[in-house]
Amino acid sequence: MRTGFKRYIRLFCVLGMIFLSASARAEPAVKNVILMIGDGMGINHITAARISLEHGAYSRLNLDTMPYTGFSITFSNSSLATDSAAAATALATGFRTDNGRLATLPDGTFVQSIMLKAKEQGRSTGIAATVSITDATPSAFLVNADSRALERTIAEDILKTQTDVLLGGGADAFGINPFTREPRARSLMNEALAAGYTYIYDRDGLINLEITPDLKLIGLFMGGNMSFEITRFPTEPSIAEMTMGALQVLGQNPQGFFLLVEGSRIDLAAHSNSTAEMVGDLLAFDQAVGVALDYAQKHPGTLVVVTADHETGGFGIRSGDPSGERVNYGWLSTAHTGAMVPIYAFGPGADRFTGTLDITEISVRIAELMGMSGFPAVIDTGSSDSQ
Ligand SMILES: [Zn+2]
Repeated sequence: MRTGFKRYIRLFCVLGMIFLSASARAEPAVKNVILMIGDGMGINHITAARISLEHGAYSRLNLDTMPYTGFSITFSNSSLATDSAAAATALATGFRTDNGRLATLPDGTFVQSIMLKAKEQGRSTGIAATVSITDATPSAFLVNADSRALERTIAEDILKTQTDVLLGGGADAFGINPFTREPRARSLMNEALAAGYTYIYDRDGLINLEITPDLKLIGLFMGGNMSFEITRFPTEPSIAEMTMGALQVLGQNPQGFFLLVEGSRIDLAAHSNSTAEMVGDLLAFDQAVGVALDYAQKHPGTLVVVTADHETGGFGIRSGDPSGERVNYGWLSTAHTGAMVPIYAFGPGADRFTGTLDITEISVRIAELMGMSGFPAVIDTGSSDSQ
């Protein structure tokens, strides 16, 4: 009897192990990814934003509630202080490159973006940013270019990717008349409309958007970059509202989605050492983080990763009162620095983003969790020239 019982137990254990390993291999753990980049967002910028809230240093941001944290080492192939193009290339493709390059290696070889790979897998894709969507960070996820300056070409290439949601600034590059907000004749926007996009140009259009199946949305709310949060026009949506709109559209795909959200202008405020604008844009970005976390809580299988591409300004807090009433702070420069930046994660696989990671490792780990094989990868066809 006893031996028989033991045999049963052993059989159950073996079956259990087979079942566990099979279920671990079946569905990828992560269906949806929300990757959020605070451009130029260093740890001290985050600290300042927290102190600016009602309870001073005792306040807590949405970021502070995220359970897993790590550090990212950000230097580029050509500089200790990366630019946004090289850093976005690292985050989008898993490759380190020279400053100025968008998803191309120093020798001009094209490399694949995790977002386009997600599209190939049948997932929906989207971008929400507070700069022109042709700017370095958004475009490194969608195009390959030797220089971030080729704005018109970048805009054309962005449209070719059939990205489901494009929200931000950059109406000028798509040929929108700034007075009428209508597309000019023979403009890129006309091509977008012909390709089936719905175009919106203000906050009302986004808030009152009718979500239909297979909706493809392009919302361009300013000619160039959008405004800083503290001087945002009533016609411009906040980054949190853009995130919410994007999630409504992308969440319709049963195969999942990859959404990039960029709090782009934290960096621009830091370049001019404008502390109030920097804190305002960081708090607005943190509101968008709150929207993403809320979505992930309600939709299991959603991974949220928040990080920065680099630190800007060498911002520091010298002294002050914990109430936040008196704070002495300063800036080291008006450029990017080589400081490490934080990584925050929530959702399935979030524990893979702890410790000190190379900036190129973040997308590699996301790709693994999404069940992608062959990432990172160079693209065989179409090697660009290398001057
Ligand atoms: Zn910058």
